[in-house]
Amino acid sequence: MRRMTLLVLAALAVCGPLSASPTLAADKLRVVTSITDLKALTEAVGGDLVEVDSLARSTQNAHDLEARPSLMIKVRRADAIVLNGLDLDDWADVVAQGANNPNVIVGAPGRIDASRGLLVLEVPRSRIDRSMGDVHPAGNPHYTLDPGLAAQVTQNILEGLARLAPQNRATFERNRQQFLARLEEAMGRWNKLLEPYKGAPVVVNHNMWLYFLTRFGLVQAGSIEERPGIPPTPSHLVKLVNQMKQERIKVIVVEPWGDLKTVQRVAQEAGAQAAVLASSVGALKGTDSYINWVDSNVKMLAQALK
Ligand SMILES: [Zn+2]
Repeated sequence: MRRMTLLVLAALAVCGPLSASPTLAADKLRVVTSITDLKALTEAVGGDLVEVDSLARSTQNAHDLEARPSLMIKVRRADAIVLNGLDLDDWADVVAQGANNPNVIVGAPGRIDASRGLLVLEVPRSRIDRSMGDVHPAGNPHYTLDPGLAAQVTQNILEGLARLAPQNRATFERNRQQFLARLEEAMGRWNKLLEPYKGAPVVVNHNMWLYFLTRFGLVQAGSIEERPGIPPTPSHLVKLVNQMKQERIKVIVVEPWGDLKTVQRVAQEAGAQAAVLASSVGALKGTDSYINWVDSNVKMLAQALK
């Protein structure tokens, strides 16, 4: 009799509940992401089977976060953590360690690297000494801004979630396909909107728009920051203004957390305009889903280039 009960229990443990029931909060995977872009993409895959929180706020510079205790509390009870990688969110390692949560440490199944399999831009040929201050030592980490890479990123997230909840893999796959179908439809509109500006040169504040600009055939001609994370010297800005005048560059793209004062001064001197785009999902009004976010950036950029 006792043996029988054990067998039934074992069978239940392997197969899970026998009938599909509405998702209870306790059944949801608790996922933490380092940035809001990854939160949006994790929600697109996980749907109502996940509860997602982002460590960085949408208006923050993700390079700049500190591993504060408040972040560790967010990670303490997480089943999984989704990381951007490429040195953007190194601080999340410290957070994961400090949270004392074995689910999310290096090598744990709940550790999801969203950058797997991506073709990374601007990988340095020689090692960059981080003491020089360059915050992109492993190449450009801002791939989430390119909607063309969302298929690979959501695939990575799907594999991670399915590792933890294999019984829900089919649902994750269906959610992802539906999301990608909507994205593809939007991509058609975005390509059309930016088509007239193919080849147009644009200056950026922080070098985080490269994937986005490249996707739509625009050219990043320079940056306000001298190197990623390093504020400009006066001589750098003089050179940049001259270049912008010569090449008739009309737009400087800047993040909400960027040094808007400097950007506006340079724009004015060069006869250009500053376009504040949403650097992360949720950074500006009406950008609270992945597709709305890209949509807003495409429209604002097209407007600025007009
Ligand atoms: Zn950066």
